[in-house]
Amino acid sequence: MDIRSMYYDELNEYILSLGLPAYRTKQVFEWMHKKYIGSVDDMTNLPKTLRKKILRDGFISLEIETKQVSKIDGTVKYLFKLYDGQMIETVFMRYSYGNSICISSQAGCRMGCRFCASTIGGLVRNLYASEMLEQIYAVMRDTGERISNVVIMGTGEPLDNYDNLIRFIRLITDERGYNLSGRSITMSTCGIVPNILKLADEDLAITLAISLHAPNDKKRRKLMPIANTYSISEIIDACKIYFEKTGRRITFEYSLVKGENDSAEDAYELAGLLAGLNCHVNLIPVNKIEERNFSRSDDYSIQKFKLGLEKNSINVTIRKSVGSDIDAACGQLRRKHMVNKVEGSL
Ligand code: SAH
Repeated sequence: MDIRSMYYDELNEYILSLGLPAYRTKQVFEWMHKKYIGSVDDMTNLPKTLRKKILRDGFISLEIETKQVSKIDGTVKYLFKLYDGQMIETVFMRYSYGNSICISSQAGCRMGCRFCASTIGGLVRNLYASEMLEQIYAVMRDTGERISNVVIMGTGEPLDNYDNLIRFIRLITDERGYNLSGRSITMSTCGIVPNILKLADEDLAITLAISLHAPNDKKRRKLMPIANTYSISEIIDACKIYFEKTGRRITFEYSLVKGENDSAEDAYELAGLLAGLNCHVNLIPVNKIEERNFSRSDDYSIQKFKLGLEKNSINVTIRKSVGSDIDAACGQLRRKHMVNKVEGSL
């Protein structure tokens, strides 16, 4: 059992099955999702016997393994230890419009994108809804600040962990709990088409971000193995349906890799692909990772690429890099931890 992953009604059933009155459900739910406590002992208005029972039946909270604070911009990067010793990373960012958090959806990843550090060790396991929630709650406990924006862009492919993802989103948006608006959540996917279509029917109104990274299938296949399974045109069709059903504008992420996907022709081809779509392109100058032989596009090419899209009336921004002094980019901290552990044991 995993009490923090339970929907309100499931929790209620559990409480009633213990022969307890229904008002205890509200109390327990609020302790977990409104006051985001880290320890069962903090549920001070509950009888000790109930606290013990909850603890025995499975109460998940995350432990901070390491924490790094950027001297440049105050970004905080956490490495959290899960109950089974696995590590995941979470990044906390302060912006003028509010605090934002980037959470992981899996320990490791099996998508194999060539420029991504998170996939190098493969997938270890899916995260439970409680472990996704706890990344947010544990950071708020630590910083004492409220989080108003959640991006699911850390380690893992969220649509490869579909059921737990949906459970997480329904719980974090529950009015009886943290009550975050779906509009404040962005989920990034490499493009698992059937699950994009499923998501469109969940009535969640979150922002969908698609990791596109190439203007055609041939180039995309060189960077992302998932492109062998789903074509760009299938992805775009799914995005259109998502937009029709949710009214949410789609974001396309495009990591610029020098000499691979950053030419003026690439920009032109991309503009043609996205013409007429209600979308926004977020350019990410690729972050160098040690294990891979890719370089970041130079500033001139990045600006030229951006202009190429703008000339064709595509909305485009360049992602601002934060926390560059603390390995905050794309799976680097978890990776470093794994490498150190292996080296330490040799
Ligand atoms: N599995 C999800 C979330 C991945 S991380 C997805 O594929 O969308 C979020 C974004 O960072 C993705 O667009 C991913 O492709 C990108 N990314 C991963 N490693 C990167 C790197 N080294 N440099 C720039 N972007 C990277």
